[in-house]
Amino acid sequence: MFSFQSINKYHSFLKENVDGCTIAVDHYLKEIEKKKHLHSFLEVFAEEAILRAKELDEKRKLGKPLGRLHGVVVGIKDVICYKGHVVSAGSKILENFKSIYNATVVEKLLQEDAIIIGRQNCDEFAMGSSNENSAYGVVRNAIDESRVPGGSSGGSAVSVQAGLTMISLGSDTGGSVRQPADFCGVVGLKPSYGRISRYGLIAYASSFDQIGIFSKTVEDAALCLEVVSGVDDFDSTVSEKPVPAYASELKIAPRKYKIAYFRQALEHPGLDPEMKATITQLINQLKLDGHTVDPIEFDLLNHIVPTYYVLTTAEASSNLSRFDAVRFGYRAPLVNSDLNDMYKASRSAGFGKEVQRRIMLGTFVLSAGYFDAYFTKAQQVRRILLNKSIEVFAQYEAIISPTVPSTAFKIGEKSDDQVAMFLADIYTVFANLVGIPAISIPLFTHSNSLPFGLQIMTNHFEETALLQLSDRLMN
Ligand code: GLN
Repeated sequence: MFSFQSINKYHSFLKENVDGCTIAVDHYLKEIEKKKHLHSFLEVFAEEAILRAKELDEKRKLGKPLGRLHGVVVGIKDVICYKGHVVSAGSKILENFKSIYNATVVEKLLQEDAIIIGRQNCDEFAMGSSNENSAYGVVRNAIDESRVPGGSSGGSAVSVQAGLTMISLGSDTGGSVRQPADFCGVVGLKPSYGRISRYGLIAYASSFDQIGIFSKTVEDAALCLEVVSGVDDFDSTVSEKPVPAYASELKIAPRKYKIAYFRQALEHPGLDPEMKATITQLINQLKLDGHTVDPIEFDLLNHIVPTYYVLTTAEASSNLSRFDAVRFGYRAPLVNSDLNDMYKASRSAGFGKEVQRRIMLGTFVLSAGYFDAYFTKAQQVRRILLNKSIEVFAQYEAIISPTVPSTAFKIGEKSDDQVAMFLADIYTVFANLVGIPAISIPLFTHSNSLPFGLQIMTNHFEETALLQLSDRLMN
């Protein structure tokens, strides 16, 4: 029986097993089939994965040099382009649309010998917090199938949670990796803006989007980050900072950290009282262990969700204008109509309700009469938030908080209450607004038996400290 604990242990297993990759792929294909009802995958690349596993087993037999993710079975969110494969962004408008090139992350995964086993379900164009906005149906949380897995990268989170892949890639514009990781009890890492190339990632809000990683352990996330990060000729927003050896840098002698938390975040009335008590207890324990943990004032907390939704919808309305039924995807069947009718009919039928709502909201905040009142104002708040983060990180190495104010909710419970759904992003959007790295680590279980995580944020490009502290807290 194959069982997966970490990439490192899997690599030791491969040393003993000449057919190890084939055994692993076989195992995952069976598990995916068994847990099909969770709807984590939109498509499984079964035949290809089997072939690739055989090739990799052969490569080991021949004693060739092996990639850092040799034989690692990975799933990718349905917003990441993989040449010759469908990429639909969970949307009807891109149904059957095949990518003609590889995203840079896909290139890098393949170069390091990973096996991409399938494409994973998500909220349409990564807009959502519950995976209920996918045009192809909801994803179920494997811990309690009547509950949502979180979103928008719900399929990718469930895949790691339910043991359907070793790791998976999602995208995080305002929490879409960390929030489902929290709801599913796995690690979810969103790196700094500019750490990983966005080339081949279908854009939602380009100044916020980052590809992120789901894994069982911090070490696996660190190794994957090391592989997929770094400069790229196809994305000028990627930083030229060298990529540290994140995984090996985890092995350092324990040290004391200077940690802050936003007082208003912990005292927020929307936060589940038991979660508040658990995190307060953790803070006390950290202090007893000799770390510095201080409350800091953050009176802008209630402004960050509106700021996020003004700016991201503005960017989305512009990004999604390319789906015009001429260059991409679905075109409504129409006779005797003019071009405008064709646009309208195709976009109305091709985009789901939430995407339409955001395109309209974004168009509104960018429109001539309202631009200064909404878009410019929100940009100013974004700058103030950045100043706040600079101020905090001048004194502290990390900020901790809950990842989400509640545990996973029931499917259908919040789908009619958009404001409640938006407020669930209160702790996660800060990191995207200012571009810093953030992670959710599965430290806790609620008395309702559901998991919840701790969010940790560090300064720009301080992924090493982020991963070190996370690893320390998880072990
Ligand atoms: N829930 C947030 C939203 O709907 C986050 C989405 C994301 O990170 N892609 O915008």
